[in-house]
Amino acid sequence: MEYHAHCHCKRVHFSFRSHEITSGKRCNCSLCVRRGAVLSSDYIPDADFTPHADESDLSVYLWNDKVMRHYFCKICGISTYGAVAGEDGKDRYRVNLGCVEGLDALALDITIVNGKALPLADEL
Ligand SMILES: [Zn+2]
Repeated sequence: MEYHAHCHCKRVHFSFRSHEITSGKRCNCSLCVRRGAVLSSDYIPDADFTPHADESDLSVYLWNDKVMRHYFCKICGISTYGAVAGEDGKDRYRVNLGCVEGLDALALDITIVNGKALPLADEL
């Protein structure tokens, strides 16, 4: 399926292809517990993901091992997606499902991840 998504103020747009989304993840690491978002269960490969065209609309937050790039809209502050290089060297993405058009993120089958207990919590 093709999914379209945007931040709250609609400045930042992105899209991706995925099997039908029926589940999501929430996490208790120090970042996710503050952000409160429902995240995609899986990483979306670079080939299936179209990021926002103008990176100057985004800020990026790096923490922990500074590998995952957590993007958010400069205007409305909404976290849109995170990008991290996979084993093939290409980026893969985890998205904030609350940004996805037509998807009720809180109605999904949600798994809580114990990110607080993981050594590299921002891998989530
Ligand atoms: Zn925005």
